[in-house]
Amino acid sequence: ARDASDAAELLERREASLAEVQEHYYAAPPRIERGWREHLLDVDGRAYVDMVNNVTPLGHGHVGVASAVNAQLRRLNTNSRFHYGAVVEYAERLAALAPDGLDTVFLVNSGSEATDLAIRIALAATGRRDVVAILEAYHGWTYASDAVSTSIADNPDALTTRPDWVHGVDAPNPFRGVHRGADAARYAPEAAARIMALAAQGRPPAAFIAETFFGNAGGIPLPDGYLAGVYTAVRATGGLAIADEVQAGFGRLGHWFWGFEQQHVVPDIIAVAKAAGNGYPLGAVITTREIAAAFRSQGYFFSSTGGSPASSAAGLAVLDAFRDERLQENALRVGTRLKSRLEELATRHPLIGAVHGLGLYLGVEFVRDRGNLEPATAETAAICDRLLELGVIMQPTGDHLNVLKTKPPLCLDDESADFFVAMLDRVLTEGW
Ligand code: PMP
Repeated sequence: ARDASDAAELLERREASLAEVQEHYYAAPPRIERGWREHLLDVDGRAYVDMVNNVTPLGHGHVGVASAVNAQLRRLNTNSRFHYGAVVEYAERLAALAPDGLDTVFLVNSGSEATDLAIRIALAATGRRDVVAILEAYHGWTYASDAVSTSIADNPDALTTRPDWVHGVDAPNPFRGVHRGADAARYAPEAAARIMALAAQGRPPAAFIAETFFGNAGGIPLPDGYLAGVYTAVRATGGLAIADEVQAGFGRLGHWFWGFEQQHVVPDIIAVAKAAGNGYPLGAVITTREIAAAFRSQGYFFSSTGGSPASSAAGLAVLDAFRDERLQENALRVGTRLKSRLEELATRHPLIGAVHGLGLYLGVEFVRDRGNLEPATAETAAICDRLLELGVIMQPTGDHLNVLKTKPPLCLDDESADFFVAMLDRVLTEGW
């Protein structure tokens, strides 16, 4: 009881001191002060399996990252205009993971900064001002990254308040979008036609920006050939292809390190963050030397803490752990097993309309009716609340908030995956 009131009292102080729009999970959240691997612990000693945390692919409390940052902070941390080894080594190792030709790195602190900078680089490199983005996407909170974010789950007014330089194309969702199933092949030619029409109107876009795997829709693969079709069109008009890999990249899909590999394309500009620092602020833009050089027209580029010694040390420790702990391999193995178990649940629980995704980028979509796909929004919220009581952290996602955001740390083990499935089975069987 003491700890419960402690959590409630802390929540009151949070609400009084932080901006109201800075939301928190759950109406009455547990007070969580510790984590280890895919587990979170509240102050009452209650353990939860964290099924949503794509900011910590290595897991919580990772010793390698903690030690590397600790050692670096004790030695030196300063802005990135000084000359030191960590930033060089990190830029080299990050670029080595990207396709040939994408060999030049800008270091920032977050995903919003990375997508914003990617857009600014594209505007500078092309001398244009228009950008094409897919609807129902989220790319960040800064001015430009927010401008291309059209998810109504994040901002109910998103569709009517975008600046005029942003041009939305239909969300390429083969499950519940305007074109479904085999008709999903129509999204790419339609987006290409929109790009051509903009060019014909004298407003050829500087860039097309998209996540390479449809995150906000609940981890849905883009239709086959989608990015190839749209990238070809934007390049034909002299624009650039920006891949937002903030969620899809870094091995989460299991089969590939980058999401764009699933689509058999190579972008011109890649934005990364989240996983890059395992929760330590670190983001990056990776592009060609030539495109990066065009940013010179904007003056110089400087981010005080982007690529600082400590954030570079964090990034290097994350890359070491990805290699040594075989996290991409684990995402494939545990993700494949988890998906097949969730699909088995779908055969017994009609509320599950589909299990989307690959690796550990999954989405369990709840519908009231498998025919008309009516989103089971209230049910999804209630199921997440009940899962919390049963020891699973899970949140709704998607524009209808009817998809379970299944993006756990990539170190998730079989036992935790099975626990999540068992608890979901129990909620769907007993009611919520
Ligand atoms: N792009 C995508 C696809 C994201 O999911 C997010 C964060 N949810 C961002 C960009 C913005 O990243 P950040 O919160 O680190 O600014």
